[in-house]
Amino acid sequence: MTSRVAARPLAAPAPAPAGAIPLAEIAPWAVFAAIVALILLYFVSTEQGAFALFKGMYVHEFVHDGRHLLGFPCH
Ligand SMILES: [Zn+2]
Repeated sequence: MTSRVAARPLAAPAPAPAGAIPLAEIAPWAVFAAIVALILLYFVSTEQGAFALFKGMYVHEFVHDGRHLLGFPCH
C-alpha cells in the first residue's frame, strides 16, 4: 500500500485578512499618539498651575475652561 499524500512546500504564513493592520505597524503610531496625549494632558492639567515651563498666563488662560471641565484644580 502506497501513500497518496503529495509533498507540498512548507506553507507560508497566512496573510492577514483584508483591512487588518499588523500590530507592528500600529505600535509606533500608538506610542506617538500616547506621547502627544500626555503632552496635551500636561498642558491642560499642570502647566502654569502647579508647575510652569513658560512665563506668563497665556497657556493657563487658553486651557482654563478645559482644566475646570476635566476637574483639575485651578484656583
Ligand atoms: Zn480656573
